[in-house]
Amino acid sequence: MLDNWVVMPTCLPLVLRRCHTCASGTFRANGKFRVNANHKLIDAWLLVLCASCGDTAKLTVLERVNVRSVRPELLDRLHDNDVGLTAELLQDPVVQRRNRIGLDWDDAWRLDTGGSDHLDREVLDVSVRFAARIPVRPVRLIAEGCGLSRAEVERLVAEGSVVSAARLTGKLSSDFTFTLKF
Ligand SMILES: [Zn+2]
Repeated sequence: MLDNWVVMPTCLPLVLRRCHTCASGTFRANGKFRVNANHKLIDAWLLVLCASCGDTAKLTVLERVNVRSVRPELLDRLHDNDVGLTAELLQDPVVQRRNRIGLDWDDAWRLDTGGSDHLDREVLDVSVRFAARIPVRPVRLIAEGCGLSRAEVERLVAEGSVVSAARLTGKLSSDFTFTLKF
């Protein structure tokens, strides 16, 4: 039997960026956009607030783009301050590179194991799906999902009791499967 676990975002991640006012390194998106149309050209920014001093910074989403080349649906979402769009744009590698930001997902996700009970089983086959590209240590996920300590999971990995095509050291942010033999 295959268990399905999901790594779910619970809120927007923190935005890692240096504040020019107070030198703090973290910002929060509040889901607001600013759109400026000038004749046929449009600029759009995602607004983020410094977590320390509250100063506003603008992350470039569109820069002097011909308004006709922008999908109407995207324009609507920008004007509506769509929170889902904020989440998508923060995870967009192009937006991240252009604005030189990173994301901190530490307290912004949870593991949903579907409430299955693993205690009386000798072998566990698990498919882990990421609902967003959230970098997480597999050892931490397996520990949380199975109710074990991280040290116990590390011992099981070292013994070869956890088998996966994915690398279990470091962090993963895309779907993987593993088999655990207790
Ligand atoms: Zn600041």
